[in-house]
Amino acid sequence: MARKSYGFETRALHAGATPDAETGARATPIYQNTSYVFDSSEHAASLFNLQEPGFIYSRLTNPTVAVLAERLAALDDGVGATVTASGHSAQILALLPLMGPGDHIVAANKLYGGSINQMGHTFKKWDWSVDFVEATEPDAFARAIRPETKALFVECLANPGGVVVDLEAIAKIAAEAEIPLIVDNTMATPYLCRPFEWGASLATYSTTKFLQGQGVALGGAVVDSGRFNFNQPDKFPSLAKPAPEYHDLIFCETFGDLAYTIYGQAVGLRDLGPSQQPMNAFLTLLGIETLPLRMERHCANALAVAEFLEGHDQVARVNYAGLKSSPYHDLARKYLPKGAGSVFTVELKGGFEAAKKLTESLELFSHLANIGDAKSLVLHPASTTHNQLSPEQQTAAGAGPELVRLSVGLETAADLIEDLDRGLAKAAKL
Ligand code: PLP
Repeated sequence: MARKSYGFETRALHAGATPDAETGARATPIYQNTSYVFDSSEHAASLFNLQEPGFIYSRLTNPTVAVLAERLAALDDGVGATVTASGHSAQILALLPLMGPGDHIVAANKLYGGSINQMGHTFKKWDWSVDFVEATEPDAFARAIRPETKALFVECLANPGGVVVDLEAIAKIAAEAEIPLIVDNTMATPYLCRPFEWGASLATYSTTKFLQGQGVALGGAVVDSGRFNFNQPDKFPSLAKPAPEYHDLIFCETFGDLAYTIYGQAVGLRDLGPSQQPMNAFLTLLGIETLPLRMERHCANALAVAEFLEGHDQVARVNYAGLKSSPYHDLARKYLPKGAGSVFTVELKGGFEAAKKLTESLELFSHLANIGDAKSLVLHPASTTHNQLSPEQQTAAGAGPELVRLSVGLETAADLIEDLDRGLAKAAKL
């Protein structure tokens, strides 16, 4: 399918897939398969030397996963995507082509708590360092850039606090420093936010969330816009200098604007191994087929619930960028014109105990650690996802003790409101 000629909804249903040539099967088959027969020894050698595309072993590529990669690239208007086992492995694979020991990134301080842990602690094991800066101050990113800085990393719509960052301003700073801006677009999805149109170079996803949409399959992806020049040998040697493990091939020279994606698969997946299971890719493809419809309903329900909560006398504040009262409302209208997503936080006047009680008292909202399910979800971040952060980091990440995170699903909005009203009444009795 020609990538840019169709609308978003059409690409969500068709990009990367055709009916199976042999059987006519309409849905993309699940190639539950580890390895692929070579035509000859020469064919095998040329696949291993990256001289021709094809399937070798499912740690690197798999036909079902390849359809998902092409679909995700098409949704973002990118040139290529690497699909991974989870959102967290996507973040590692996004940085692997760019980073070496001693290198550095500047990341927003408003990120999913797991990302702050991953970057702030585990990255140190590879001698990668991170400065977390105030997400809402683009100049803070500029001030933190140094010669070893290889990328900026933000969530456009941050989990969990309803913060929207100024993508265009941060992308300009990245462009001036000649480094890529990476946007974790998990919370918004390509339907609500278009990172490459604002100057970002790369997008990462936890497809576990809205892209899959039903809470049944972990997955992740890195999408390359194809608009960043990685051919800077001193800055990005992995991509722009000879690769000894591939007979001194230079990725940028050999693969042009696919260099970053091919490195992600031929080195990242090959050597680190976080490949996605074909069954999960199949389930994610099914989810993406209805992404536009689901996101519209997610946003409409979230707005109705947020408006109800904002008017409730036990609620101190609702942090949802879709509300006119939000300090991020103007940024949301610019970067998320179709809706501000469906994950947001509510601060309760009753503090920590009331937040816990509300979380435990709801019937339709399931108390669990996920977002982006068709079913509504609730969590108390300070005692779960953001538990390993210091109290200062919790508050900086928008996950203070008095706060409950909601992921509003696709149920009847009035039922969700009734459930919350009942739960708040129980929390009030404390
Ligand atoms: N990015 C965001 C915004 C997330 O919310 C999450 C998980 O909650 C991740 C990344 C990590 O994704 P995964 O759980 O698929 O590894």
